[in-house]
Amino acid sequence: MKTIAVVSGKGGTGKTTFTAGIASLIKKPFTLVDCDVDAANLCLLFDIKIEEDKDFFGSDIASVNQDLCVQCGSCEDNCRFDAVAYNPKSDSFEVNRIACEGCAVCTIVCPFDAVSLSRIKTGEIRISDAKDFKIVHADLLPGCGASGLLVKQVKKEAENISSDSEFILIDGPPGIGCPFIATVSGVDYAVIVAEPGLSSLHDLKRAKQVIDIFGAKIFVVINRYDLSENITRQIENYCLENNIGIAGKIPYDEKVFESVRNLMPLTRYDCPASEALKNCFSYIADKTGI
Ligand code: SF4
Ligand code: SF4
Repeated sequence: MKTIAVVSGKGGTGKTTFTAGIASLIKKPFTLVDCDVDAANLCLLFDIKIEEDKDFFGSDIASVNQDLCVQCGSCEDNCRFDAVAYNPKSDSFEVNRIACEGCAVCTIVCPFDAVSLSRIKTGEIRISDAKDFKIVHADLLPGCGASGLLVKQVKKEAENISSDSEFILIDGPPGIGCPFIATVSGVDYAVIVAEPGLSSLHDLKRAKQVIDIFGAKIFVVINRYDLSENITRQIENYCLENNIGIAGKIPYDEKVFESVRNLMPLTRYDCPASEALKNCFSYIADKTGI
């Protein structure tokens, strides 16, 4: 089974629209995965029925046992996140659940074993049926961190239900931080969706650097390429110099916004952007066997 991740480095390049379009064209059995756990919206573009809903416990936070606490202040002095402090209103040392990083320093420095860590729920993972395929998606709860861990678990859930699938297609998160690293680790192919802007070119280069560490084969798609033919040429030259295949170029097209407004994959529309996306799919299918 092969895994393909669609990523962008930069947000707002049209990555999710592209992923949904590709997913709508695949004829072989596959599993779709949304690893953008901070803002999962891939499933909105399909008519889905949630089949499983699981809690994800991804972080530890500290709590103070007031019966054991003698208010020495050592935990407050040593917490580098300012997450534990004396509250004069309650006359007790309290942990700020949002600020606590679960580093456990307070449990070590407390001379009276008054602080302990407990695992908290930080997200929800769902497995949904989209008629032709399953979608694994997740939501990180507001204010919670460790999104990389959640991405890792989402991929694991996808693998668990993919025994009959030939492919796993992933919609990755923007940026190149922890969730991005968790997304591209172990994948066979990465499709980077870029757009003709200097920041996108910069982020494309950074995304490539990270993906190269994991050894995935990279392809590039240039979305809205006609908004700046000059920067599009720069992206093409960069790909040429770095031996990166360009899967295709998609023109700016108002129909894309209509498809997003109507929560439909772009491939359901008859328009230039849809045609170009289908050509990108043919290229990727040819290279990956999808
Ligand atoms: S676990 Fe770490 S971050 Fe949380 S209160 Fe203790 S020292 Fe601070
Ligand atoms: S270090 Fe322990 S005893 Fe001291 S204030 Fe913190 S919780 Fe209380």
